[in-house]
Amino acid sequence: MTDGKKAPTPTDLPTQSPDALEAMLTQAMSTRASNAPAVPTVGQRCGLIAIVGKPNVGKSTLLNALVGQKISITSRKAQTTRHRITGMRTVGPTQYVFVDTPGFQTRHSNALNRSLNRTVVGAVNDVDLIVFVVEAGQFNQADAKVLSLLPANTPAILLANKFDLIHRRAEIAPWLKEMQERHNFAEFVPMSANNARDVERLFGICDKYLPEQPWMYGAEELTDRSDRFMAAEIIREKLFRLTGDELPYTSTVIIDKYEEEGNLRRVAATIVVERDGHKGMIIGEKGEKLKRIGTEARHELETLTGGKVFLEIWVKVRSGWADDDARVKTFGYE
Ligand code: GDP
Ligand code: MG
Repeated sequence: MTDGKKAPTPTDLPTQSPDALEAMLTQAMSTRASNAPAVPTVGQRCGLIAIVGKPNVGKSTLLNALVGQKISITSRKAQTTRHRITGMRTVGPTQYVFVDTPGFQTRHSNALNRSLNRTVVGAVNDVDLIVFVVEAGQFNQADAKVLSLLPANTPAILLANKFDLIHRRAEIAPWLKEMQERHNFAEFVPMSANNARDVERLFGICDKYLPEQPWMYGAEELTDRSDRFMAAEIIREKLFRLTGDELPYTSTVIIDKYEEEGNLRRVAATIVVERDGHKGMIIGEKGEKLKRIGTEARHELETLTGGKVFLEIWVKVRSGWADDDARVKTFGYE
């Protein structure tokens, strides 16, 4: 958008005909190709963008695509992103600093979930732009919970993800009208996080919401997470990938040791689970599952660090830790 046009406000919408809504949809899908900022840029531009949404809508996929490197784990299983992960990308004069947030928990309200909820609220109250991610054409109670956390005075983009799964566009216009009535979204972006062109287009859309100010990071930097943190995330991803849906999300990974000797890293990690049965699931027949988790994690760590990695993984049962505030803290949650 180079002409400074704004998406219609919710008050405009009820009077609009279905044709007008269809026109708006067409416009949203066709005129966003430009990467030019709406306001001429004098110097550097830099701002924080929170990517929020219920679990499984594609936030991690989007963040990884935006940053161009895998920094947030993705999985078919919901709720795998538990830490607030920041990635950044500098395009032309603009530095985009992304904040990923855990999915808002609605089913249980134990200490772990309270900690997750605090992280979400902390993330949205401290940013220049919110990207509210939903699955195109869908909106349920979990989406509504997340939406209710968004501050009214921060511009929010409605990102209708997984648009590749929408086959009848006619259904989207009424859905969009409902969405505009729910929140005063600044813009509507139908897209697919796994489509590279859609992702590049998003930079040009977000640009104008970020203030003119010096960059916070170097132009080449992609994450401010430590190698130690990345090690835990990688192990956790392999754990969820290789144990499928059987393993409850309350299991976690702790890095006990992370030592660097030249090009070599010695890493010791503990996977903490809630029950003996879960321990068996991770270790597998003759230990082959744990061995595979270790091998795959080590390969990825070696790619990430560009060196050799010795990785030791232990599995421990810590029954009930998710209900214990002190213990949640020990494991690094905010
Ligand atoms: P998160 O929980 O919101 O971080 O969601 P993830 O990024 O982990 O994605 C959840 C699932 O949705 C994964 O299986 C992704 O591959 C899938 N996914 C993400 N974006 C898209 C998309 O644009 N189209 C389709 N078809 N699937 C997607
Ligand atoms: Mg995620």
